[in-house]
Amino acid sequence: MIVADFEPVSLNDFPGRIATVVFIHGCNLLCRFCYNRELVLKNFAYVDKTKEFFKFLKENGIKSVAITGGEPLFHPNIFEFLYELKGDGIETKLDTNGFSSKKLKIALDEKLLDYVAVDVKGFSDEEIKYITRCNLKFRYFADTYRLLKKYGVPFELRITVWRDFQKETLKNFFMLIDSNDKVVLQKPIVDKPLLDKRFESQLKRIDFERNVEVFMSYFPKTKVRNIL
Ligand code: SF4
Repeated sequence: MIVADFEPVSLNDFPGRIATVVFIHGCNLLCRFCYNRELVLKNFAYVDKTKEFFKFLKENGIKSVAITGGEPLFHPNIFEFLYELKGDGIETKLDTNGFSSKKLKIALDEKLLDYVAVDVKGFSDEEIKYITRCNLKFRYFADTYRLLKKYGVPFELRITVWRDFQKETLKNFFMLIDSNDKVVLQKPIVDKPLLDKRFESQLKRIDFERNVEVFMSYFPKTKVRNIL
């Protein structure tokens, strides 16, 4: 039981590839802005589509898969899943929240990943704790970042704009990253029920364009993506 669902074809989820997107059930965080309730909350029952997913890949000769969630690295069977994909000669892109660096290291050691997209939940311990509702630290994200740099796997850092950027906390982030890194700003989803319903009105007040301008004044190469 690992595949909650899959999207047969996507042009937007694996840079440079036409890919199948697979949604893995379960997550270790409870982000206030999360709109994937059915993947994150334990009380949502789902029909396991693992067999159907692999059958689809084989029958259609799919060679690229974007793995998302939930948090794929949180699933106990994630390595078996990745080995099976790699055994079938499939390129893999992983979306991760950046707080499972030990498992990420194993996946990189085993050459199971071809591209990684890492969320940046916040730029300080306080921001990360507030938004994820878990006792996590900025330095845990930094561990993940350094790992990706060390292994040289292509990656991007994805930032959902859930509050106005603060000059002081942005400084931590820019001191860590490299000017050649790919950084993507994402507009939060506000038209679906969020994990924290009370957060919806706060999100609607965020001036996304203004925050993009602020961010770009420090990091002009930033890309912007609207989640569909
Ligand atoms: S947004 Fe947060 S809670 Fe939702 S799937 Fe991603 S990491 Fe998990």
